[in-house]
Amino acid sequence: MGSVKYSVVIPVFNEEAVVEVAYTRLKRVMEKTDGSYELIFVNDGSWDRTSGLLERICARDPMVKLIDFSRNFGHQIAITAGMDYAQGEAIVVIDADLQDPPEVIPLMIEKWKDGYDVIYGRRVEREGETLLKKVTAKLFYRFLRRMTEVEMPVDTGDFRLIDRKVCNALWECGERNRYVRGLIIAVCNQLHDAVTCTRQ
Ligand code: UDP
Ligand code: MG
Repeated sequence: MGSVKYSVVIPVFNEEAVVEVAYTRLKRVMEKTDGSYELIFVNDGSWDRTSGLLERICARDPMVKLIDFSRNFGHQIAITAGMDYAQGEAIVVIDADLQDPPEVIPLMIEKWKDGYDVIYGRRVEREGETLLKKVTAKLFYRFLRRMTEVEMPVDTGDFRLIDRKVCNALWECGERNRYVRGLIIAVCNQLHDAVTCTRQ
């Protein structure tokens, strides 16, 4: 792969109010890391001022890359496009709305250096969300846990760091109807099975 060490993938849909602040905070955090980085914004068919704001950021900062969808394809597809495009050895996915603090990324990087392949952020507090959203989100994650054989951590969004080999495995699996956070765990289980097999 190229010379990029860290890729940050940011799906963006109608986030004109926060996109500049998100960029500034991510930039500040990534500048302090020990390697080169890229910020990949995926504009998922926004119809507010997001698109123009991102184009301006992209024009002035060579570390910023922009994937611009012609229409809204949805969060999971936006993340997938960003991860497919990412060149880094470690890939971070983070929402643009700053519900996940970028300042946690260095802690994830430390864990990655310790040898972990997937490090996920867990939402302790769902700030600024309605009670209905909080309750349905809680129910959703618990329901999902019962429904699937994959061991899903509760209350996690898509805020996570994955190693290059997990990113490659996601790409290779070719699943089109993606629930990325579940798929990551599934491909990881396979990867680790593969490692165990080769060791035997
Ligand atoms: N998003 C997107 N496409 C969509 C909806 C959302 O790219 O169709 C982006 C959004 O801008 C944000 C992230 O995906 O950066 C998560 O979206 P949201 O905050 O709505 O999700 P939640 O916080 O409820 O998990
Ligand atoms: Mg959100």
